[in-house]
Amino acid sequence: MALITMKFGGTSVGSPEAITSVVGITGDEVRRGNSVIVVVSAMSGATDMLLGSVREAVTGNRWAYLNAAQKLRERHEEALNLLAPAAPSRESVKHEVNAILDQHIELCNAVSILGEATPRITDAAVSFGERMSARVVALALRTAGVEAQALDATQLIATDANFGSASVHWPETNAAIEAKLQPLLDKGIVPVITGFIGATADGHVTTLGRGGSDYSSAIFAAATASDELIIWTDVDGVMTTDPRIDRRARVLPYVSYQEVGELAFYGAKVLHPKTVQPILNRQIPLRVRNTFNPAHPGTLIGPTNEPAETVIKAVTSIRSVSLLTVGGKGMIGVPGIAGRTFLAAASAGANILMIAQASSEQSFCFVVMDDRTLQVKHSIESALEEEIERQDVDLVEVLEDVAIVTAIGSGMRGTPGVAGRVFTTMGSNRVNVVAIAQGASECSISFVVAEHDLKQAVVALHDLALEAVPVT
Ligand code: ADP
Ligand code: ASP
Ligand code: MG
Repeated sequence: MALITMKFGGTSVGSPEAITSVVGITGDEVRRGNSVIVVVSAMSGATDMLLGSVREAVTGNRWAYLNAAQKLRERHEEALNLLAPAAPSRESVKHEVNAILDQHIELCNAVSILGEATPRITDAAVSFGERMSARVVALALRTAGVEAQALDATQLIATDANFGSASVHWPETNAAIEAKLQPLLDKGIVPVITGFIGATADGHVTTLGRGGSDYSSAIFAAATASDELIIWTDVDGVMTTDPRIDRRARVLPYVSYQEVGELAFYGAKVLHPKTVQPILNRQIPLRVRNTFNPAHPGTLIGPTNEPAETVIKAVTSIRSVSLLTVGGKGMIGVPGIAGRTFLAAASAGANILMIAQASSEQSFCFVVMDDRTLQVKHSIESALEEEIERQDVDLVEVLEDVAIVTAIGSGMRGTPGVAGRVFTTMGSNRVNVVAIAQGASECSISFVVAEHDLKQAVVALHDLALEAVPVT
């Protein structure tokens, strides 16, 4: 008998039909004699609606958030009516869903009076999507004869108070999971746990970052030493590139933890970038599979690096980023400028996605998401105020409307000429490369292009990746 943790994403729980597949997949595992932990996202679109409601509340638009709450109410009630038409507990689950939405409206009322939403209130409001979907899925399972119980991860995942992107406190999390999850599993009950959320020691709800349910499921898989983690989504597996950018994208049968880490970090939405961290040391196999095509074996993700023949296995991209350049003749040999720059960027709340330095030491550049650009620029300019005044450093230059494109493959390590091939391809496609960086792991090469060149760059590189992938 195996213990399997399974996560179902937003589309997989986004309609009564999709939840019927979730019930089928889960029920099959239980009937095979396996213990199952289910982790769910909010119904597709719910998280965006909840966030939108909070933004509307800030501007005092009461009608907008009441309307959003009403739509969410109808969607969840409709799912309950269709999935559990005769269940005795249906009314009590409806009542719970309504109570959750009432809390959401109360929060929005408070935000609208204050005229601002703190990250703490936003996290509380946005957590309601997963809280509702977990209850719906658990009832659907019970109705189909699978013993299941909805659980809020607020009582299982302990985090710091970094609202919006909280970090896990492992000892407390492991202890809570052992104490609260194990007894359910021992009784043969399937816990249906909210993804995406946790709580601080003093009980405030936190979130793990957008798309964070993948990470939640890896936390549960690691803490329970699951035999396997399966992430059920709306595509057949991890693909050679984003199928929305290039329809020729193919499913990769196998990807290493390291490769998938790079893929996710550099923009492949299919997995949250932190997903592999908890399962890496325990070497828990991870599979990405399609809820709507369960016959497909999906992608297996494991510890060994199996190079593809073409070396480049996958291509990813990130839009809506800016390139910041710090440069100046007086920078040569002056220690600490880079260090202070990156500290300043961090204090402006920016995640640095890529760094490149010219060998002359006269400048270096790095990439951050657009929404942070101005704060980062100002923060660096004040940290380097003296150097700028002495004209050792010029003003911080910002290049907007750029994108990062990344080629990934563990076979790049020790294979000469990969970078040459990548940039020759860009040249022959007339794509201008603005900056280049290679990961220290030598498992990826990233470069910056103008945003209008993104699609062409991805498609041209993707040609190289496609050469080695079998058509399935
Ligand atoms: P879920 O709601 O199941 O978490 P997401 O929308 O977060 O699903 O992620 C799945 C989506 O990721 C796919 O529908 C696909 O459009 C997108 N995607 C981007 N890059 C890739 C890739 N390399 N492989 C597979 N899917 C990708
Ligand atoms: N519902 C959350 C989001 O949309 C978390 C997730 O789906 O993984 O970001
Ligand atoms: Mg996702």
